[in-house]
Amino acid sequence: MNIDSIRNGIVIDHIQAKKGLEIYEALKLNELDCSVAIITNAKSKKMGKKDIIKIDKDINLDLDILGYIDPNITINIIENDVRVDKYHVELPKEIVGIVKCKNPRCITSIEQELKHIFVLTDKEKKTYRCKYCETLKEE
Ligand SMILES: [Zn+2]
Repeated sequence: MNIDSIRNGIVIDHIQAKKGLEIYEALKLNELDCSVAIITNAKSKKMGKKDIIKIDKDINLDLDILGYIDPNITINIIENDVRVDKYHVELPKEIVGIVKCKNPRCITSIEQELKHIFVLTDKEKKTYRCKYCETLKEE
């Protein structure tokens, strides 16, 4: 795979420097059978340094996970060497099954099979609260 270009696939750009590997793991990219490149500390006019992930295949990305890890990421869709689509991820409105509620009295601590769900309550402050007991999500 050419590091500079991919024919058909996805480029995850503007990842905060050093977060590339975290995203690689969160998206389980190691389970893909196509080429995946992580570029760390790429120069960026806007950010100084950034990470980039290039995936040599058009796959379905979990945008909620991406938005949760780093809402400043941009996604580029490449077809036949041409960028055909570009969009930003957003903070997910709900985080399901990623973060656990720490409140020992929360119903999710008692009912083990219940999914942990956090709801975005303040977009500006990026505040999430447990859907069941409203406990604040820890950073
Ligand atoms: Zn809770």
